[in-house]
Amino acid sequence: MSKFFFLKCPKCGNRQKYHTQGDIGDKRKACVFCGASFAVRSQILREC
Ligand SMILES: [Zn+2]
Repeated sequence: MSKFFFLKCPKCGNRQKYHTQGDIGDKRKACVFCGASFAVRSQILREC
């Protein structure tokens, strides 16, 4: 199942959309603003 989340980068604080198929698990994402890598699950603001 396809889902969109809003994530907040723990380093620069910018918000960004994240699209995923299936379970988030322990997936990581690179911030589109500062390039910092973070765990998706820990930075979810809300589902959208
Ligand atoms: Zn960032």
